Amino acid sequence: MTRLQCRRVALRTLGLLVLTLVVAGQVHANEILGIRWNESPHNTRIVLDLSEPADYKYGQLDNPTRVYIDLKNTSPKGSIRVRDIDSRVLKSIRHAVGSNGMYRVVLDLTRKVEPNVFKLDPYNPYGHRLVIDLPSEVKLDDCSTNNEPHKDVVVVVDAGHGGEDPGAIAITGLFEKHVTLAIARIVQEVLEDAPGFRVIMTRDGDYEVPLNTRRNIAMMERAHVFVSVHADSVNRPGPKGGSVFVLDNGKAVSELNKWHVQNENRSDWVGGVASWVNSECFDEPNQYRFLNEMPRDFVLDSSVAIGKSVLQEMSSVAGLHPRALTKNRRDFRVTDAGYLVLKSTHVPSILVETGYLSTPSEARLLATSSHQRSVGEAIAFGVLSYFCDNPPWHTDLSRGEVECPYNRTFKTYRVKSGDTLGEIALANNVSVSSLLQMNNLNSDRIYTDQLLTIPIRPRRN
Ligand SMILES: [Zn+2]
Repeated sequence: MTRLQCRRVALRTLGLLVLTLVVAGQVHANEILGIRWNESPHNTRIVLDLSEPADYKYGQLDNPTRVYIDLKNTSPKGSIRVRDIDSRVLKSIRHAVGSNGMYRVVLDLTRKVEPNVFKLDPYNPYGHRLVIDLPSEVKLDDCSTNNEPHKDVVVVVDAGHGGEDPGAIAITGLFEKHVTLAIARIVQEVLEDAPGFRVIMTRDGDYEVPLNTRRNIAMMERAHVFVSVHADSVNRPGPKGGSVFVLDNGKAVSELNKWHVQNENRSDWVGGVASWVNSECFDEPNQYRFLNEMPRDFVLDSSVAIGKSVLQEMSSVAGLHPRALTKNRRDFRVTDAGYLVLKSTHVPSILVETGYLSTPSEARLLATSSHQRSVGEAIAFGVLSYFCDNPPWHTDLSRGEVECPYNRTFKTYRVKSGDTLGEIALANNVSVSSLLQMNNLNSDRIYTDQLLTIPIRPRRN
């Protein structure tokens, strides 16, 4: 071979290698970064850490009894080490490329168990995850009764303040407690219309309800979500827009872990459904508190996801505060807060700030029944949308007994000469910020023939 031929061969080989790598990169878009498992008295949880959201199927097989998860376009990153398995339900974890080309993870079980499989979005310190929960046979002790799972998705709606506590008082004289109750009643109305959903109000009149009572209602009712409705206020006019808060109290969680190790048999988490707990079961109030903040992973991730879903709906009807959007305005963001009302439930909980009463224009808007209705509907639609995508274990929704009562829908619009984003927003009954966010726009400059995605707001009969 001449030097030139030699170089050609080398280049061709290199080209082929690059091509192979590119193709391989495209086929295996997702990587398994790790496989973890842990066990509580009522549940065995297997977590697949992934580089991308899982595209998966799962099923059960007999002889031997096992659950399999088939992951599309997935390969393990390096060799995956799994902690030695010592479990009541789980015998072993195997994984390899299956005959169908999917990457198959097999969980060998000691007995047949109905798995509960769901995805979790990244949330610091975790990335994308696929969770497989294997509930144990639940044995109730005296302190744990009524473990029958709910058939309905149970939503506790909490109208902030009330009675002697007016909440924020707007420049216009409007009380926050009246705004929150009006909006909470709309949320209740929409959700109660939806098959498969049930609402419990923490208050339904102008009276005080202690914060402890509000969160205990959510816990004792074993709610799937606690939604607290508020309106913001600061001591200067100007700030505008809605936002959503969740609780992320690192200190409480580290205390919880300490406590949990010492009191493992008090853990009462059943396949994603909090079981009934009775405060008399605990000697010290702080034990009660820590117990109910677990498991952090599930509660916090769910809270964040529900919060984002609500923000997405709210962006169609109201402006969002800058804190409710990421810096590039391409995604919604919930804010961590140590609000007392959100603490001490092991129920996913969000606190919705519907706008600023301290800003006159927004206070006037929040006083109108039409805006209260829009915001209330948006909160309810956000909740419906989340639970349609993530139906809780054992509910009519997850078993297909009722159909998802809500679909988030969009249409595409081609910009005409002379259109402005403001006019398009107005014509479609959505906000400019919602169009900016949905179309990844950094300013409201648009051009002729540009295609815009526009949310279609569901109309109720
Ligand atoms: Zn408030």
